[in-house]
Amino acid sequence: MNHEECYEAVRARNSEFYGVFYTGVLTTGIFCKPSCSSRLPYSKNVRFFESIEAAKNAGLRACKRCKPEL
Ligand SMILES: [Zn+2]
Repeated sequence: MNHEECYEAVRARNSEFYGVFYTGVLTTGIFCKPSCSSRLPYSKNVRFFESIEAAKNAGLRACKRCKPEL
């Protein structure tokens, strides 16, 4: 999936993509499940990661709201 497809899936709160990718928010330094209820930031502030490990390696920490590590 490319960036636009991921962004669209997150905007649609599509829970089918749980486990497929994680949403990293550069402005807040957290990463989320695709279906997180937090407000979606601008596309340019978002990066998508294939795994939790990849998101952590980018310096992001798990969202306390959607708990992507559980
Ligand atoms: Zn979240």
